[in-house]
Amino acid sequence: MSISFLLTLFITSSLSSLSAYAQLLRFSHSSKHDASLSFLMLGDWGRRGAFNQSQVAFQMGKVGERLDIDFVVSTGDNFYDNGLISEHDNAFAESFTKIYTAESLQKQWYSVLGNHDYRGDAEAQLSPVLREMDSRWLCLRSFIVDSELVDIFFVDTTPFVEKYFTEPQKHKYDWGGIGPQKPDVGNVIKDLELAPKESRAQWRGVVGHHTIRSVGHHGDTQELVEKLLPILQANNIDFYMNGHDHCLEHISDTESPIQFLTSGAGSKAWSGDLQQMNRRGLNFFYDGQGFMSVQLTQTHATIEFYDVFGNVLHTLASSKQPHSFM
Ligand SMILES: [Zn+2]
Repeated sequence: MSISFLLTLFITSSLSSLSAYAQLLRFSHSSKHDASLSFLMLGDWGRRGAFNQSQVAFQMGKVGERLDIDFVVSTGDNFYDNGLISEHDNAFAESFTKIYTAESLQKQWYSVLGNHDYRGDAEAQLSPVLREMDSRWLCLRSFIVDSELVDIFFVDTTPFVEKYFTEPQKHKYDWGGIGPQKPDVGNVIKDLELAPKESRAQWRGVVGHHTIRSVGHHGDTQELVEKLLPILQANNIDFYMNGHDHCLEHISDTESPIQFLTSGAGSKAWSGDLQQMNRRGLNFFYDGQGFMSVQLTQTHATIEFYDVFGNVLHTLASSKQPHSFM
């Protein structure tokens, strides 16, 4: 396996008083020599290849090769139906290693957890044991990927959502490692308030599993609208990227330049399951399987959504003046 990425891990500790966001792990991922960067994004996928997961993976391989991608982002709900049983669960190999086999996908994968992942052993997906089995895999709760061109802030959104605590129904959630009761999201919020202020990147993205704005089955996630969106709006975030709703979707914020991008169709898709097609800011909604690509340069961002046949369904092109820090 040839992995052509440069990955540097800086584990910030309480000793690094120069860093205001000491709690978040920061990964440095170089841009290409021409200062561009591209990646694929998918969510809601791990079903041992069934339900079109393998077909989506095949098309990802082709698009990944064409765009010469630098990495892949997974927006969570990585393993259905109930996450991994343990770090030795063969679903990891059956739903990940043996599915995303194309040469172009042998890159770093940056992943967050989804609510379904919390129904199993949530910490198993964070374990270095998985990275030993497949070095592409990197899943953490909240962290930053910094490529100079773009800073991407990954947020563990499941602990924000009240109903998983108040109405778990028949599901059991594993909050191990973050608190026996309801986890405190205060520190994550504090980190997210501070980290973008230190960003010098031309583009800024935030990745979380849950929607902020969506016309799909789950709709908006009220807790994120209240607690996360104001931070995004105050910090010049360009893109909020998520899964959870099993669709492909692009909504423009009506109050800021933020673009909400849903890629939660890696296998699960709910045909016709949507609400509010006349919502303000809605640019695109597709209720079948597929994935998304992001291509960035200093001045341009191009985002494309693909169906299971590799057809481009929707393109978002955005431009910015290059800025300098004098
Ligand atoms: Zn979900």
